[in-house]
Amino acid sequence: MGVRPSSSIGRNSKQDSQAQEQIFDTHPESSLDFEVVRQAARQKYTRPFLILDNAIVRQKARRFRAVMPRVRPHYAVKANPDRRVLRVLAQEGCGFEIASTAELDMLLALGVPAAEVFYSNPMKSRDAIAYAAARGVEWFVIDSVDELRRVHEVRADAKMYLRVSTPNIGSDWPLSGKFGAGAAETREIIATAARRGADLAGVTFHAGSQCRNPENWRVGIEKARTVFDAMAKAGLKPRLLDIGGGFPVRHVKPIPSIEVIGEVVNEALKAFPEEVRVIAEPGRYMTSDAGYFVCRVIGTTTRGGKRWMHWDAGLFGGVIETTEGLKYRIRSDRSGPDVPWHVAGPTCDSVDVILRDEPLPSDLQEGDFIYIRNAGAYTTAYASEFNGFPLPEVRIFESKNRG
Ligand SMILES: *Cc1c(COP(=O)(O)O)cnc(C)c1O
Repeated sequence: MGVRPSSSIGRNSKQDSQAQEQIFDTHPESSLDFEVVRQAARQKYTRPFLILDNAIVRQKARRFRAVMPRVRPHYAVKANPDRRVLRVLAQEGCGFEIASTAELDMLLALGVPAAEVFYSNPMKSRDAIAYAAARGVEWFVIDSVDELRRVHEVRADAKMYLRVSTPNIGSDWPLSGKFGAGAAETREIIATAARRGADLAGVTFHAGSQCRNPENWRVGIEKARTVFDAMAKAGLKPRLLDIGGGFPVRHVKPIPSIEVIGEVVNEALKAFPEEVRVIAEPGRYMTSDAGYFVCRVIGTTTRGGKRWMHWDAGLFGGVIETTEGLKYRIRSDRSGPDVPWHVAGPTCDSVDVILRDEPLPSDLQEGDFIYIRNAGAYTTAYASEFNGFPLPEVRIFESKNRG
């Protein structure tokens, strides 16, 4: 019922994608039970909500660790910063990765040791660096000489890891256009660290978010190996490898399972001696498929011959990743034939259009529920109260019947 196939696929590409599905589908993906979600929507609905099962979060953390025993996951808090989720991940032995001091405070309040929190934002204010260092954060990322100087001036004994730019081919969110040192910058940063006596002690990269290409990790790890060598040659003591985030979850397009990615990663890690500490920074992977985002159709209309549907959650209310091309599986309780719809959020901002020509049931109407599968990451975390619409509710539970 209401399960959307990926849109606009011709016959050949459909066959291709089915063949690809088979390659990748040897390891099943998890998802919150749709019936649980439908019942939750019917119990009481006051505003859009995320419903999330922490048992799935636990499962994902365990699966990640089982697949890559050498790699300790440090959850990227920004993907879903709900305290109940953070607590479960801490219980499962995860460390954390932060971008701000507010994220650090949340973790410290939960009793997470500061030494397990990595400050992975490549551009931090002096105040933020000082604040984190004073509370016991040890590791700070840099991707420029400027940041290396800043961290070193604020905290002379800070341990730093260098973010290098690596290919983001096949990622839904290429991140390499913004952060990451290139080859010439890397040489300059290493030379500067050696000259100043700064403890530049690790390498990181980010494969791109929702990365469907396992090769990005292989290439990133191989690159890190050459940077380790350059650091050692300059007299530095490299001892941390951080393989970043980007591990994908199932939406519409086929994805490589974590087992497939893990094989590539484990093989590439053989180039690093045992004493090198290896971490990763999964965000989406840990929380996305533990949750459904539920909202409601406010009304429908036709404008200029186009069908429009307005939901009570849009770009400002948590449904933002569609605007960057992510294709969610969107369900409803209708079964009419699919027709193209433009979908908007509730606000009056012209940018608040979240889907265009999306195939959805023709009989969707006012008051219908919309269920967005695997939306536990990067939804509620982005929501604002713009235009006076309330933040989504976050309903978290932990089912007992999951392993
Ligand atoms: C956002 C982010 C992550 C998490 O990315 P996912 O794609 O959610 O796994 C990890 N590390 C850094 C530095 C990030 O900015």
